[in-house]
Amino acid sequence: MFGFGKKKPQEVTLNSDQYKFEVEPEQNILDAALKAGVPFPHDCRVGSCGTCACKLTSGKIKPTADFSYVLDGEQLKDGMILACQSRAKTPVAIDVSIDSDAKASATKSYEGVVKKVKSLTHDIVELTIGIDNLEHSGMAGQYSEVLVKQVGNSRSYSFAKAPENENPGELSFFIRNVPKGRFSKWLFDGDPTGQKLEVNTPFGSFYYRDGKGTMVCIAGGSGMSAVKAILEKAAIDQVERDAVFLFGARTQQDIYGKEELEEIKKKWNPNYKFEYTYVLNMEPEDSNWNGARGMVTDYLKSDYIEKNKLEMKDCQGYLCGPPPMIDAAIKEFTSEGMPNNEIYFDKFLDSGSK
Ligand SMILES: Cc1cc2nc3c(=O)[nH]c(=O)nc-3n(C[C@H](O)[C@H](O)[C@H](O)COP(=O)(O)OP(=O)(O)OC[C@H]3O[C@@H](n4cnc5c(N)ncnc54)[C@H](O)[C@@H]3O)c2cc1C
Repeated sequence: MFGFGKKKPQEVTLNSDQYKFEVEPEQNILDAALKAGVPFPHDCRVGSCGTCACKLTSGKIKPTADFSYVLDGEQLKDGMILACQSRAKTPVAIDVSIDSDAKASATKSYEGVVKKVKSLTHDIVELTIGIDNLEHSGMAGQYSEVLVKQVGNSRSYSFAKAPENENPGELSFFIRNVPKGRFSKWLFDGDPTGQKLEVNTPFGSFYYRDGKGTMVCIAGGSGMSAVKAILEKAAIDQVERDAVFLFGARTQQDIYGKEELEEIKKKWNPNYKFEYTYVLNMEPEDSNWNGARGMVTDYLKSDYIEKNKLEMKDCQGYLCGPPPMIDAAIKEFTSEGMPNNEIYFDKFLDSGSK
């Protein structure tokens, strides 16, 4: 072999000359950008959400998935690609809209060990990973990628605590047991304590944004993690605004996090309000539950919007959890006048979500 055909790294240029970085032959363009500390827009990184859609203006790429699941015919004709599903075959130039407020830390790879698995509900645990040399550069609301040998591909998990509330050298996550899921099987069927794993961190565009209006937060299932972390951070920073957090669940069995939410309430800037409500949609009618019932979006409408407690056009939205819940909440928020660019969310997409 004389090195013929040996693939080499390629240069990527963003928005004329705004950023330049190299991408390895087996690396996708988004991962290379994030590793270089470029605030490239992204969320799921598995080709489902479309957030990393961008325009290829010159050069050749190799797609690693079919873009047409996410991009329409017009966009494909216009040269749009998904950075998370594209490798560079030649030097490439890309145009992408980068939010001027976007913040990014270069992602790093660590070896970690499972320190603790604590049960929170019948199907959610708190996983604590220990990492000796961790430099936690993530922001509350962002996520890590966790790779376990027995599972094969990595999975994304959102920080369950504001970085300031973590023990040094630890990362915590709330993880739901997804039926027939491979990572879920590894985590829930047995005791993985002491097992090694790889952690790449941080990722994601979901984090606290400055603003004056009330933060309207909605989460479901393990989506409590990212929203709670953002609220913890907002309490630590004593932000000068109100916040409302609605947690949507099926029954009382799905309730968790009360102690931490009480702690946020205690620490919230005393000149402003923080309130949280658990809203149950499948709790038996004859149970001892005296709290809120119904779909979380209906509750927001009947108990906040119609009672004039919230003027949605002046609020900012934070949403995290299952995609259908987020889609319903976005619809409700925008129909009540909240601008699209004031709604931040993280959909917990999985490999069955396409
Ligand atoms: C940005 C982000 C943050 C996230 N944060 C969290 C978090 O904090 N907590 C959390 O619990 N989850 C989170 N998730 C989801 C998480 O990454 C995993 O997707 C989830 O835990 C399921 O992984 P699994 O290996 O158990 O399931 P998988 O093995 O991925 O399977 C998931 C489901 O899809 C089905 N399935 C698998 N392959 C296919 C296929 N080819 N076609 C159809 N169906 C299929 C499976 O049967 C199963 O029901 C997040 C996801 C994203 C994108």
